[in-house]
Amino acid sequence: MLFKEIIGQQEVKQKLLGLVRDDRTPHALMLFGPEGTGKLTLAVAMAQYLSCKDRKEDDSCGVCPSCIKFEKLVHPDLHFVVPVLKTGSMTAPPVSDDYAAVWRETLLADFYLTESQWYEALGAENKQGIINVKESENIIRKLGFKPYESDYRMVVIWLPEKMNQSAANKLLKLIEEPPQKTLILMVSEHTDRILPTILSRTQLLHVPPVSETDLREGLLQQEQTDPQLVEDAVLRANGSVSIALQTLRQDEIEAHHFELFTELMRLCYARDIVKINGWVERVAGIGRERQKQVIDYSLRLLRENFMLHMENDTLNYMSAKEANFSNKFSPFIHEGNVHALAEAFTLAGNHIEANGNPRIILMDLSIGVIRLLMQKAPTAG
Ligand SMILES: [Zn+2]
Repeated sequence: MLFKEIIGQQEVKQKLLGLVRDDRTPHALMLFGPEGTGKLTLAVAMAQYLSCKDRKEDDSCGVCPSCIKFEKLVHPDLHFVVPVLKTGSMTAPPVSDDYAAVWRETLLADFYLTESQWYEALGAENKQGIINVKESENIIRKLGFKPYESDYRMVVIWLPEKMNQSAANKLLKLIEEPPQKTLILMVSEHTDRILPTILSRTQLLHVPPVSETDLREGLLQQEQTDPQLVEDAVLRANGSVSIALQTLRQDEIEAHHFELFTELMRLCYARDIVKINGWVERVAGIGRERQKQVIDYSLRLLRENFMLHMENDTLNYMSAKEANFSNKFSPFIHEGNVHALAEAFTLAGNHIEANGNPRIILMDLSIGVIRLLMQKAPTAG
């Protein structure tokens, strides 16, 4: 991870660079602040810079053997300690090393990983991980070795507030008497839950929320997407890159559902069986989870269109794009067909869930929609 790849945080980056350049790297450093601001990725960038064989003024070189290993998170002198929990048939209390591969993969996929996303990656949503005493013993052992390739042995402790009492006590001992040339980099979101004696022996560096300007610029550079979606994500993010990225991904998925739904409605209205068949083939290929999402999305938009048809404007929850489409489409959704349409989509969703053949289910659905869209609205009175 290069500093220049991290969104915003100029001030923090300058401080970290300064520590290394002026040879003032402490034994224990803690980056703390709210979730989603890039603390973990800043910690990894700091370790990479410290270890880089051809350090530049403002960043690691990115091409030396050390940097290459950092890019894959496989440098032998870089260790991670993260909160973990028992999964599957595990009996012994787990440690980070048990999940080293999934950690690397998850972090490389998203450096703005949040704690709950991590537990999700472990297949344990809604559970809480901890850092146990065995983990602290592992750190002490690892930092006791001579460095393999770097001048430093480095350990990144993500969320030290997740340490239990005995783990924290062991860590405190280590911080009090650190081996030569070690760097303990902690990344915390709740310093109030950390032993004051650890905090007082640690250099603390606050990482603030990312400014809207930095966030907008960073997202536009990194994510190839609609500037309108970026703007929406920035406004909802409150300075958290994690939330901005989640919003952006969700919005992109919604935008795709919108395209699929409106396309199907147009094709059904035109009774274009050849193109409908192409649509069915494409949707059959996106997987059952996504197919169910498309069905759910369709049901929502059908309901919104019916509401719009009934001129019950206050009940509408639509984006500008959806409203634009619906203004033209809603006349076709009325008392005469809305229930049957909803039933057809619900049934298709149930059949997909029950592992039916998506090609047959979606083609049946489309033919049903053609027939239902042809029905005229019942005349009032
Ligand atoms: Zn390098």
